[in-house]
Amino acid sequence: MDGKIVLEEHYAVPDTMGGSAATINTSDEWGEIERRLLDLRSQRIEEMDAHGIRYAIQSLNAPGIQEILDVKEAIETARRTNDFLAGEIAQSAGRLGGFAALPMQDPEAAAAELTRCVAELGFHGALVNGFSQNVVEDSVIYYDGPEYRDFWKTVESLGAPFYMHPRTAVPSRMQPYAGHPWIRSAAWGFAAETSLHALRLIGSALFDECPKLQVILGHLGEHIPYDMWRIDHRIRKLPQGYPCEHPMSHYLKNNFHVTTSGNFCDATLACAIAGLGTERVMFSVDYPMEHTADGANWFDNAPMPESQRQAIGRENASKLFNLDLS
Ligand code: ZN
Repeated sequence: MDGKIVLEEHYAVPDTMGGSAATINTSDEWGEIERRLLDLRSQRIEEMDAHGIRYAIQSLNAPGIQEILDVKEAIETARRTNDFLAGEIAQSAGRLGGFAALPMQDPEAAAAELTRCVAELGFHGALVNGFSQNVVEDSVIYYDGPEYRDFWKTVESLGAPFYMHPRTAVPSRMQPYAGHPWIRSAAWGFAAETSLHALRLIGSALFDECPKLQVILGHLGEHIPYDMWRIDHRIRKLPQGYPCEHPMSHYLKNNFHVTTSGNFCDATLACAIAGLGTERVMFSVDYPMEHTADGANWFDNAPMPESQRQAIGRENASKLFNLDLS
C-alpha cells in the first residue's frame, strides 16, 4: 500500500541515547540501532520510500526525558530536543512530523512545552515514555494524580493526542522479573507497565473530567484489547467500587487509539479491531527498534478488505491529526 502514515518512529540525540541501550539484546544490534536513531535524513527516508510510507511522526527515544532526575535539566533537554526535531522536520520536504518530548516531572512545565510545540513548532501532540523519575533514581511518578489534572486539561484543550510509550523499569520495578531478564523489557514488561499506567489514567476518572482527551497506545494496545471484557466483568464485582461513570471499555473505545508498532500479527490486529473498531487502529513500525520491511510487508499483505487497509494505513491517522498531505 502506498501513502502509509506511521507514528511510533523514534530518533535520538546524543544526550538521550544512554537509556535505550538497556532494552536491546546484543551490542552488535545496538550499534546499528544507535546509528539509525541519530539519522533523520538519509536511511530513514530511503526506507520510507522503499515501503510506501508517505509521512512519519517522529518522537524521542525511550526513556528520554522521563529518566532525567533533575527537573531543570529535564525541562531544558525537552526544549532543546523539540527544537532540534523541528529543525529536522523543516529539512524533510514534508515527509516528517513531530511529537513533543515533555518534562512530565513538572506538570506545569510539561503543559507549557506542549503548548509551545503545538502552537509554534507545528507538532501533532506528545509522546511520553511512561512514568517519570524525579530527583531519586528509584522513583516512579504516574500521571493519574491530582497534580496532573491541569496538564491533561491543557492536552484536551489543544486537541493534541498523547502517545503513552513504554520505557525501561527502575530497580524497584525489576523485582517481579528477577532471574528472568528475557521477559523484563519489550517481550512483556513494557506492555505490563504501560497497560497498567493506561488503566490508572482511566481509573482516576480522568476521562469523565476530560471527555475529549485522546490517548494512543502502541504495540496493538499493550495487551489491553485482549482483556477488555474481563476488565469490565471483574470491576463490576469489586467490593471497593469503581469511581468512573462508565465501564473501562467505554473509555477505551472513546478515548484510546492503538498502533501496530512492533506487533505484526494478524490475530492480534483482528482482536484490536474487534475491541476498539477499525477507526481506532493505525499502522506504525517502531523504527528503528523494528525493521520497516517487516512491518510494511506484513501490513500490506495482512488479510483485510482494502478499504480497511486504507483506513488503518493512512486515513485514521490523517483524520486524528488533521493532516493535509496532498
Ligand atoms: Zn517505540
